[in-house]
Amino acid sequence: MMSNNKFKILIVEDEANILSFIKANLEISDYQVICAETCALGMMMYASYHPDLIVLDLGLPDRDGLSLIQDVREADTVPIIVLSARSGEMDKVEALDLGANDYITKPFEPTELVARVEAVLRRCGKAQGTLAASACSYRFGKRKTGSRIQRTDGSYPRSSSQSSIQREKRG
Ligand code: CA
Repeated sequence: MMSNNKFKILIVEDEANILSFIKANLEISDYQVICAETCALGMMMYASYHPDLIVLDLGLPDRDGLSLIQDVREADTVPIIVLSARSGEMDKVEALDLGANDYITKPFEPTELVARVEAVLRRCGKAQGTLAASACSYRFGKRKTGSRIQRTDGSYPRSSSQSSIQREKRG
């Protein structure tokens, strides 16, 4: 049980100046902040500290931040806000498709980041009330089911009807 109302935010970002900038702004807004500079460390921090929200850079030294979204979404609905210099529409679509809740393009205003963090937490029912929480888990549930159907290589697992068609062809 949490002893205070502070939300725990995990920041995964390799650029030290951006990291400290985000950290300072979130701490001023009364969030508890934990940091990681790589995907691997980010996953470790995530598993150990169960943050309420993850702020994630995509250009990380060990792996692409997108892979962290994938790994986290295997098991969890924790809100993820991507913070990236990649401003292409497809980059945003890909991140959101993998399960990111929001996408902020660098450079950004600290007030915007804090506002988005608050909005995402509220939307996911972390802030106040339980109605939003059930709506959020329903949405995540749908997304998760969808991603489970399609494999990461883009192929679909063979359904029973497909395999019977193949049997017919062979026979
Ligand atoms: Ca980076």
